[in-house]
Amino acid sequence: MSALIWLRSDLRADWHSPLNYAIEQHDSVTAVYIVTPQQWRHYGLAQAKTDLILARLAELKKRLKDRNVYLNIVKEPDYTSSVKRIAIECQKHNINNVYVNAEYEWDERQRDKALKLALQDQGIQCGVFHDTCLVRPDAIFNQQNKPYKVFTPYFKAWLAELERQNMTPLSANSQASQTQTLDEEVELDSLSDWYWSRRDSKRWPACDKGLTEKARAFVSERAADYASNRDIPIKEGTSELSPYLSIGAISPARLYHQLSIEARQSLEQRNGGEYEWLRELAWRDFYRYVMFHFPHVCKHRCFQSQYDEFPWETDKKAFEAWCEGRTGYPVVDAAMRCLNQTGWMHNRLRMIVSSFLCKHLRLPWRWGEDYFMSRLIDGDFASNNGGWQWSASVGTDAAPYFRIFNPTTQGERYDKQGRFIRSWVPELESVPDKHLHQPSAWQGFSDVDYPAPIVDHKATVAETKRRFQDFLASH
Ligand SMILES: Cc1cc2nc3c(=O)[nH]c(=O)nc-3n(C[C@H](O)[C@H](O)[C@H](O)COP(=O)(O)OP(=O)(O)OC[C@H]3O[C@@H](n4cnc5c(N)ncnc54)[C@H](O)[C@@H]3O)c2cc1C
Repeated sequence: MSALIWLRSDLRADWHSPLNYAIEQHDSVTAVYIVTPQQWRHYGLAQAKTDLILARLAELKKRLKDRNVYLNIVKEPDYTSSVKRIAIECQKHNINNVYVNAEYEWDERQRDKALKLALQDQGIQCGVFHDTCLVRPDAIFNQQNKPYKVFTPYFKAWLAELERQNMTPLSANSQASQTQTLDEEVELDSLSDWYWSRRDSKRWPACDKGLTEKARAFVSERAADYASNRDIPIKEGTSELSPYLSIGAISPARLYHQLSIEARQSLEQRNGGEYEWLRELAWRDFYRYVMFHFPHVCKHRCFQSQYDEFPWETDKKAFEAWCEGRTGYPVVDAAMRCLNQTGWMHNRLRMIVSSFLCKHLRLPWRWGEDYFMSRLIDGDFASNNGGWQWSASVGTDAAPYFRIFNPTTQGERYDKQGRFIRSWVPELESVPDKHLHQPSAWQGFSDVDYPAPIVDHKATVAETKRRFQDFLASH
């Protein structure tokens, strides 16, 4: 009996239920990854992210070989042709079962429905596993048996479910007896020349060794201080594991398992840095949960549907200034330049710049969402969409519209000495520390080659609140 594992956003050879199950149940186990350039372009995936995927695939080939599973890397334009390709390969290679890890985005769910149907026609079973989240989205509901819409009660139920699951590690030692190669495999090296796969993910190790060490170092050495360090961009206060979680190079179950061994007390007492960090993994699950139960958020719509009609501005020049880091607000500009050059932005900065786009410039949150996706190495539909809808006050559990970050005081608070700003905005070199967060107020500003604030904070915040109030009054 032969099995095929279709890998998508689960690019690992350990903590992988479909893989373990297939090895246990089948004589022959083969893996496939389908590179889908058209689909990637349609989603506007960042070059840094696609580069990380390709680097990871090279590593994964070796790790799967250790388990005697051949990873075939093939190319198809999009999801529709991918489904057809899987069905054809199954027929050609006498595959009896296909196994996948579920993905919860709308398009991906439609793809998998089509897959099941296509395989059914050929008498092939499709087994779906749920390793992407710690708690699968259909596992918890409120007392009315409805999906949660607010994080805090969701988190309570999520924790209870997590404890109930009593997670045990999945062995990564078992090996398949046989494996197969499919036709028309593509060479990874030939893919790296595509325009969207510039080699700029080097800062992020794609090998298991580097990744394991990164996760270990955070959980053992830094997670305890997470609560106090997590908001300071210049510190190594967060795990920086999101790029790996987004492509599934590391499993959330493995991180939880590590935490539950090394930080048992913090988890049991429900306080401390490690517990706070677990809460962030719950946010990751929560945004997948929202997407699963309220799929309209996958269709460019607000969770709170009334805001679909909110009259956002359309000033393209202001948007360009935001994208390029030329708003005249140092912390916003430093963050955007960091994103543009590295594909990475710290969470506190994501909150500041997204609030600035939606509440200071009153530009559509979807513009920001798309721009982030096109730049972020950890671009992840659910977390990105959830983060943007939160900032725009249109999502589930969103920040209320009148809570608007002041970019100057945020900078003063979270980049006190201005080290982050100075490393990304060299034009401000001559500005004294005292004026760094508001350089236009310095008397020597006219000699500095840096823009004056694109909008006046006080005036624009007042206008935003008025617009939201008027909008809500009329809806
Ligand atoms: C506007 C906006 C856009 C965002 N876009 C993305 C995105 O495309 N991809 C992405 O992974 N995260 C996104 N986030 C969430 C968050 O900023 C990142 O997950 C975090 O900065 C990653 O850094 P880390 O791995 O060091 O996180 P840590 O603080 O170490 O947290 C551990 C993990 O928990 C998850 N997590 C942490 N915070 C959040 C959160 N607020 N929402 C959901 N999951 C979270 C991530 O998987 C993260 O790796 C966005 C947030 C905002 C405000």
